[in-house]
Amino acid sequence: MKSSQQSAKSPVGKVYLVGAGPGDPDLLTVKAHRLIAAAAVILHDDLVPQSILALAPAGARVTSVGKRFGAQGATQTEINERMILAARQGLNVVRLKGGDPGIFGRLAEEIDALQAAGVPFEIVPGVTAGIAAAASLGVSLTDRRKAARIVVITNHQAQSHANAEAADWRGLIRDDSTLVIYMPGHDFPALRAQLLSAGCAADMPAAIVSRATAPDERCRFSTVGTLDKLPLMDSPAILLVGRSLDGAHSRADSAAARAFDEADLLLSSLQA
Ligand code: SAH
Repeated sequence: MKSSQQSAKSPVGKVYLVGAGPGDPDLLTVKAHRLIAAAAVILHDDLVPQSILALAPAGARVTSVGKRFGAQGATQTEINERMILAARQGLNVVRLKGGDPGIFGRLAEEIDALQAAGVPFEIVPGVTAGIAAAASLGVSLTDRRKAARIVVITNHQAQSHANAEAADWRGLIRDDSTLVIYMPGHDFPALRAQLLSAGCAADMPAAIVSRATAPDERCRFSTVGTLDKLPLMDSPAILLVGRSLDGAHSRADSAAARAFDEADLLLSSLQA
């Protein structure tokens, strides 16, 4: 949505709701980079790395508004108020979120607040974690020989309320779907049970990618039936499930082997 005309008497800044991508600064969009580099105020989530915040100009007010897991709605109200206040001071605000702002990012609540306050805003998309994880695994989420759809879901609900029922995924499970599960949590045995009871085949390939695109990224492969054997992985992590992951394991192994070969070659050429 584009900015409305601003009157000279009461200038209102604009709020840019910007996706910072999965972590690697090279995966910022050119537009996100440009806006960060020109921002007066940056309000960012926990997932945005320092290497991206470092692109802000020296005088910018850079504030973390990250909500720790399970925080209550008051924090969201405070974020809304901060955005609106800064815009009413005539400042341009970058509200910086990990990945894409519209994927499990509470974007809709912020849009509603800005709209109600009459503050102009614009959404700038980013590379979402699921897409980054697929690239790291070397797979196409819509390999047309195996997958006809992508289902983007979260396990967040099951974790955030102590007694909440696990999310009901029946009806989402199909042999030709790739599931991209954000916030999978650490209870892999429960996740396995949840997927199996929703009708997922035990031999369905699964992969978890921790800290996708960061220097310490890690991937682990399994099947839905052996999900409970996966080791705990550092946050943030994302779980991919589907036939589109067939063969990813062996490709990842050979990519790792190639990387070692290249390192050996480099070493021997340096020693020569
Ligand atoms: N808007 C974000 C998602 C926010 S929800 C996006 O589009 O990516 C936060 C969840 O996203 C994390 O719990 C994790 O499941 C996933 N996530 C975000 N960044 C990630 C990364 N670099 N690697 C793996 N998972 C990530």
